[in-house]
Amino acid sequence: MHSIYTTNEHLLNNTICLLLHKHSLSMAKSPESEHPIKAYGYAARDTSGVLSPLTFSRRATGDKDVRFKVLYCGICHSDLHFAKNEWGMSTYPILPGHEIVGVVTEVGSKVEKFKVGDNVGVGCLVGTCGSCECCANDLESYCPKQILTYGFLYHDGTRTYGGYSDHMVADEHFVLRWPDNLPLDSGAPLLCAGITTYSPLRHFGLDKPGMKVGVVGLGGLGHVAVKFAKAFGAEVTVISTSSAKKQEALEGLKADHFIVSKDPEQMQVHGILNSFK
Ligand SMILES: [Zn+2]
Ligand SMILES: [Zn+2]
Repeated sequence: MHSIYTTNEHLLNNTICLLLHKHSLSMAKSPESEHPIKAYGYAARDTSGVLSPLTFSRRATGDKDVRFKVLYCGICHSDLHFAKNEWGMSTYPILPGHEIVGVVTEVGSKVEKFKVGDNVGVGCLVGTCGSCECCANDLESYCPKQILTYGFLYHDGTRTYGGYSDHMVADEHFVLRWPDNLPLDSGAPLLCAGITTYSPLRHFGLDKPGMKVGVVGLGGLGHVAVKFAKAFGAEVTVISTSSAKKQEALEGLKADHFIVSKDPEQMQVHGILNSFK
């Protein structure tokens, strides 16, 4: 087996989110009055995990901004962590959602890539410094001054709010064109769970027939990883803590093998060091 790819956690996003800790959130005005455009969404107000309606506001469309009506938004497990402050960095109200798909309603005067009516998506990033080495090399997700889609301070000092809302506005650099042949609803998770698994598969060269890929954990990310790896032509082994997802893995997602990580015999047969207890 060439590689064990851990999908139990949002490695990429966790790294990003930890950087949030460096920033304290403060607001001079209320969410409802700080910007000119009225907006509506669902926000967490405490650690209960309950979301309730929030009337807030979004900035006017800037020169490089794309404004779009939110049609669909994935529910990522990071949203749940944030809503419940399980990472200890949430500041309420927090309006989650970072797998956002919609249709463009307005573009700024200097926007070049989009026009009204285009289908678009926004993931977990809405801003970076734009000048560091990472930004210069299209590695914005490593920028030390990155601005997350929600729970973060934007360049203007106001808080970012995510996709559990009626509309969104973002700099076109962080807006993705949505392919015509990709469903708007079921495609939304590609904006976080998708790229988080697609990227390492490509980066480590596991994107070709003949490769053997192990996917640890068949959750939100894991099942997408299996789909990608199979589409790339790899031989895919799902490694899970119990046999509960065996049928889904082998029959539903067409994985080639299934291993229960808590069964030392199975792990040994496949030559895997069991470090996933
Ligand atoms: Zn996510
Ligand atoms: Zn940067």
